[in-house]
Amino acid sequence: MRRSFHTHRAYAPGMVRMTVLASGSKGNSTIVASATTRILVDAGLSCRELMKRMKAAGEEPSALDAILITHEHQDHVQGMAVTARKLGIPVYLTEPTHRAWVRWMTPQKRITYAQWLEQRRAQADSAQRSTVSVQEQQSTGHPFDSPACADSLRAGSAQSSADSDQRSVISDQDATRAARCSADVTGEPDEEEKAAAEEVLSEPEKDPTSLPAVEYFRSGSGFRIGDIAVTPFTTPHDAVDPVGFVFEADGVRIAIATDLGYMPSNVHAHLRRADVLMLESNHDVDMLRDGPYPWSVKQRVMSRVGHLSNDAAAEFLARSYDGGAAYVVLAHLSENNNLPELARISAERALRDRMSLLANHLLLAEQDRPMAAIVL
Ligand SMILES: [Zn+2]
Ligand SMILES: [Zn+2]
Repeated sequence: MRRSFHTHRAYAPGMVRMTVLASGSKGNSTIVASATTRILVDAGLSCRELMKRMKAAGEEPSALDAILITHEHQDHVQGMAVTARKLGIPVYLTEPTHRAWVRWMTPQKRITYAQWLEQRRAQADSAQRSTVSVQEQQSTGHPFDSPACADSLRAGSAQSSADSDQRSVISDQDATRAARCSADVTGEPDEEEKAAAEEVLSEPEKDPTSLPAVEYFRSGSGFRIGDIAVTPFTTPHDAVDPVGFVFEADGVRIAIATDLGYMPSNVHAHLRRADVLMLESNHDVDMLRDGPYPWSVKQRVMSRVGHLSNDAAAEFLARSYDGGAAYVVLAHLSENNNLPELARISAERALRDRMSLLANHLLLAEQDRPMAAIVL
């Protein structure tokens, strides 16, 4: 496959940086970059939104070398294919994750693409006209829905249904513009959507699962992308083959561990000696227990293949963390079952107990806007 690495952006040698574009159950994406290599870790927002946030964060989309995927949940892959095709860059994932994604992207009934598209348009129209229940939406077997992280599921309140419907419409629009994603975020959306839909209609065999290049990796086996060494490690989460990553470049070590039900010893081992530690602090256990989710979803979030609570993250920071990171970034906070202040206080208390609060900058990754780049 093509292995050219962009060098047109001049950063001082030795500069390694991490920019969180989004973090949470509505979408996750982070850029890890050395002076010569730039990797997008997960693409859980639409391509259009990713482009917008990269520009806002001062990252040039065309300078990306690869997309790396942790697992197949929608909040990690939503914009993966469109972004990879637009930029012509390879996607790195495990083979089981790739297969799971392709399965979710492929309509189960054998119909022509034109028939399928017509069906999707009718569904999008009816969703716009009236409030359709979440259950009805799901029973249509939406081929572009992939399973979401458990904490993105909503309870059946009127407000929640409206939110879900809106998301469904947005992903339909993404589907119709599957062939392209405009980096021009100021463009007239109606015109663009019309043009994209017509473009897809004129290419009935367009395969939504096509990617410019796919590179498989295995958990536990390190590999390189440009001058960044990548080590994927297994995480306990309800996806087919979920991983976290450790990145090393120019002597800087960045560890990303989100979407995990608990902290097994293999994860502890990989998080040692990190200069930047991005750690899930998903929910406050009491808020989750007393909150609006159905019991089955609460159980899923709290299970050993769900998400890490503030308490579990704090316990790791207090007891097992080596205290050596310059930055600890709390990530994948639940919108419904957490408050940034609760996550922060819990982690601060844990770090204070270890006397490492002063040495560690504690940051919170946000859902709705990119975080300022961490530069080391
Ligand atoms: Zn997940
Ligand atoms: Zn997630």
